[in-house]
Amino acid sequence: MERIMIKDLSVKKGEEVLIKGWVDVARDQGKMAFFDFRDVSGKVQGVVFGKPDVLEVAKELRSEWVVAVTGKVNERPEKMIKEGVLNGDIELEITAIEVLNKAETPVFELDKDTREVGEETRLKYRYLDLRTERMKNNIIARHAIIKYIRSHLDEQGFFEIETPLLTKSTPEGARDYLVPSRLYPGHSYALPQSPQQYKQLLMSAGFEKYFQLARCMRDEDLRGDRQPEFTQLDMEMSFVTEEDVLQTNEELLIKLVTELYPDKKIQEIPFPRITYADAMEKYGNDRPDIREDKEDPNLLAFCWVVDFPFFEKTAESDDPQAEGEWTFTHNPFSLSKPEDIEKIRTKTDIASITASQYDICLNGYEIGGGSIRAHDPEILRSTLQILGHSDDKIDANFGHMMHAFGSGTPPHGGIAWGLDRLIMILQGEPNIREVMAFAKTREGRDPMMGSPSVVDKKQYDELHLEVKKKK
Ligand code: ASP
Repeated sequence: MERIMIKDLSVKKGEEVLIKGWVDVARDQGKMAFFDFRDVSGKVQGVVFGKPDVLEVAKELRSEWVVAVTGKVNERPEKMIKEGVLNGDIELEITAIEVLNKAETPVFELDKDTREVGEETRLKYRYLDLRTERMKNNIIARHAIIKYIRSHLDEQGFFEIETPLLTKSTPEGARDYLVPSRLYPGHSYALPQSPQQYKQLLMSAGFEKYFQLARCMRDEDLRGDRQPEFTQLDMEMSFVTEEDVLQTNEELLIKLVTELYPDKKIQEIPFPRITYADAMEKYGNDRPDIREDKEDPNLLAFCWVVDFPFFEKTAESDDPQAEGEWTFTHNPFSLSKPEDIEKIRTKTDIASITASQYDICLNGYEIGGGSIRAHDPEILRSTLQILGHSDDKIDANFGHMMHAFGSGTPPHGGIAWGLDRLIMILQGEPNIREVMAFAKTREGRDPMMGSPSVVDKKQYDELHLEVKKKK
């Protein structure tokens, strides 16, 4: 007999079927045994009665055993029907059970929400945690969101293009994860903090519209709700203005919410736009929570924050009075607003330069950000000079960008969404670990795999590394 998924059982009333899955709950009642069986598609109740040989096997079954069950799909008596519940109107009259695998008693209860279980334990036994209803739903919702984004962007003429994970250390504000090279002693690859340069080079290459569900790695101190690796929806477009990028993203967000989260309400369309200066003045931060009703879990208050200052002074820690060097507020590859380009060229009045840069915020979280980029090599050089790079360093580190921009690169701009954070908010979860299949602890460890881990000396030797003993 062919296996049928549990969600499809209700169309098989009166028929004999074969299901495969887990024992969700087992209830032995002497001459009868009741079960809930579960597969990825749902649950169904099964019952054994009047078959001593089947009952004998049935009484052995424990929660989380994996079984193949044959049975007849019976309609439940009127009084027993559970309205609005999957398979609430049927019951499986079990005729045979085959045990495919036994299971130890789970370390925490899987038929309950695991919110209260210690996170270390949940992450150590993540494969069990993911069996719970809420976690399963989060991961499936994530799949649905990604699928929606892919097909929407495909319809809009975007190409999904992968970019390397073994790349070069770049100045994007955070510390890089390094991968020492075996073949080139003393050299290292860096894992990408984002595909920023590659996506811009894809514009040089002529693809015009790019996106990627990009894994980004940043070796930051793990303050708050951060993960060492996370996923961006990364996009870049040619021949666009700031307005075009905002429109494209706003449309996608509205459609995504409307199609996949019909119960949610977007507070205001078009999304309000708030300048950085106004946000700081009115809300004291640059990710304003503009919800009119903060008690309503279904309210989504999107807004754009625009007109960021391009540069800011780095504070020098030991002398609060002393001013530091100039640094970028978002991205060294950004362009200023058109009216400020001359100031970049001439490096004057730097504090007053506004970037063509935008963040998208939702309910008090920044869920994405991007900018229109410099595509003229001289403007990029000037920007990098303002940031304190010497010409030698610019040529050594950004020679490829300079050359590409001098070889016919169209005007372009883009954005990246923090996808985990968006999914977290849509799913009503308190942190991004709840919407990642295999997350790390707040301290950046994976208690399931046991990483990071000490590796064999031989492996360090091959990489020309010596580990310093802690004193
Ligand atoms: N690469 C940028 C970031 O990761 C986003 C962008 O400017 O497109 O923040």
